[in-house]
Order: sequence, then C-alpha cells, then structure tokens
Amino acid sequence: MKQKRAIILILMFALLLSFSVLSGCADNSTQTTAPPQSQHTYVGSVNSNKYHYPDCQWAQKIKLENEIWFSSKEEAEEAGYIPCKVCSP
Ligand SMILES: [Zn+2]
Repeated sequence: MKQKRAIILILMFALLLSFSVLSGCADNSTQTTAPPQSQHTYVGSVNSNKYHYPDCQWAQKIKLENEIWFSSKEEAEEAGYIPCKVCSP
C-alpha cells in the first residue's frame, strides 16, 4: 500500500513539473519579441533620396509603407541616399 501511494505522489510531482516547464516556455516566447526597427539608426523614404535621423521632422512625415531603414551612413549612401540638410545625420 505504501509503495502505491509513493508512485502516485511521484506521478503527481512529475505532472506538476511538466506543467511549470510548459508555462515557462510560453512566457519566454512572448518576451523575446523585440521591435523590428531597434537596430536601425537612419530612415529614408522610397520616394526620395535623403536619409534622416528617426526624430527628424521630415522623417516623421514619411508614411510607414514608404520607410526604408539603414543601420549606418555607409549603408544609406551605398543605396544612393544623401544626408538630410535639416537633421544632418
Ligand atoms: Zn532630416
């Protein structure tokens, strides 16, 4: 009788453990979603040849669907973009 009870206890413990592991995984997957533009420093518009700091007044007028992001000045200039004269990145 004692042995049976011990087995049930072990089974219950294992179930609890697997549940906590599963819920832990679910929590991690929701926390690892980072904003996609976090690594980009400069923004331009597909309709112009200028690139800006994201906080430039002109950068903020670019429509979301026309935004093109660069992680460096070199990257922007290689793509044929020139620095904006207002925010001078
Ligand atoms: Zn600008």
